[in-house]
Order: sequence, then structure tokens, then C-alpha cells
Amino acid sequence: MTRLLIVEDEPQIVRVLRPALTAEGYALEAVATGAQALTAAAAASFHAIILDLGLPDMDGKDVIMQIRSWSKTPIVVLSARDAEDEKIQALDLGADDFVNKPFRIGELLARIRAALRHAAHSGPQGTRLTIDHLDADFETKRIFVQNKLVRLSPREMTLLKVFAEHRGMVLTHKQIIAAVWGGNADVEAQFVRVLVGNLRMKIERVPSEPALILTEAGLGYRLADDASSTRGNNS
Ligand code: CA
Repeated sequence: MTRLLIVEDEPQIVRVLRPALTAEGYALEAVATGAQALTAAAAASFHAIILDLGLPDMDGKDVIMQIRSWSKTPIVVLSARDAEDEKIQALDLGADDFVNKPFRIGELLARIRAALRHAAHSGPQGTRLTIDHLDADFETKRIFVQNKLVRLSPREMTLLKVFAEHRGMVLTHKQIIAAVWGGNADVEAQFVRVLVGNLRMKIERVPSEPALILTEAGLGYRLADDASSTRGNNS
């Protein structure tokens, strides 16, 4: 059974989450403070952690930092919609994804599934990405769009591969820069926007209305989990 740890101090949110997640077949443990979260995470193994950032006893970002010092368990952050800086910090500290509060349960479930899938598949496999009209083979470096071979630059290829390895999960500008240019590269977010724009020109049906590489305003980008169910997004 897939075990989830919910760290949330608002009882009404736990009251919504518990039946919804149980109905999906997850086993839950819910705690309300950062200290309890650290104790619970150390005492038992969870497949994923759903973490509210605004906790009564400590900053949720500190919880992420401490858990990441010894565990790779996927962490999906629950965060206020307007707290962009906080979300970026949480992601850069090692959270795997975030869901805006107030949230739709369907979106949270999708994020949890993507994080669990990523945890299960991280490793040397995953050389292939098939999504909508795109078919990418990273071993042979052959990328087909609507059955036509397209040429990607080495950086575009690396970027697409990073997205493929984190399908359905948000990647911050900083994470993309680290993956494509190297961790210490002096690269501005503008370079990321240009590279993403170039990649979209090659792989999107309508580059001005991307359905594969979605923008997360102020944060970064996300490869659509399922192109047929993506939201409209044109930034
Ligand atoms: Ca809270």
C-alpha cells in the first residue's frame, strides 16, 4: 500500500484530504507540526509527503531541508497561491512539486501521482518519451514530431531530457540552469526562456499555445503529464 504523510495544521484541510486520498487507495498518517513531521518521517517510511509550508512551530522549508539531508522521499508542498518566492525556495531546497492553496483535489492527486512515478522511475532508464505528437528517443537522440524527424541543439536535447525525467513536475529556472548549463553557470532566467522558446518552436503544434511545455508563472516550467488534459497556457 502506498503510504502518505500529510503535514498540515488546518484540520478542515485534513478533513477534506483524508477521504479523498483514502478513496484513491493511499494509506495516510496526518500530523500538524514540523516537529511531528520529522519524527513521523524518521519513524516510518512513506512513499510521499504532502507538506504545508505554514506550520505553527517551524517553517515548512526547514522541514524540507532536514528531510532532504537523509531522505529522497517525494515532497509535494501545499502553498499559498501568491507566495512565489516561497515556492521557488521550497523547490530549490528539494521539494518535488507544489500545489496552490486553495487547491483542487484532482490537481493534488495528479501531483502526487507524478511525484510517486518520478521516484519509482528515477534512474538510468527513461530513455524514451512519448507524449501526444512527440516521440523522443534519448538514446539515439532521435526526436519525432508528428512523425517527422526534427533536429534539436545539444542544449535543447538536454532540456527535453530533463523535462522527460521530471514529467508532470515543475522545474524552477535554477534547476533548469543547473541541468543544462551546469550548477555554477552564470546564466540568467532570460536564457532559459529563450531556450524553452526555441524548443517549443520545434516540438509544439502551436508554439504560441504550448501544450507540452507549460509555463508556471514566476517559477519555471512543467512538461505536461498528459497532453489531452492540459490547461490552456500561453505565457
Ligand atoms: Ca498552515
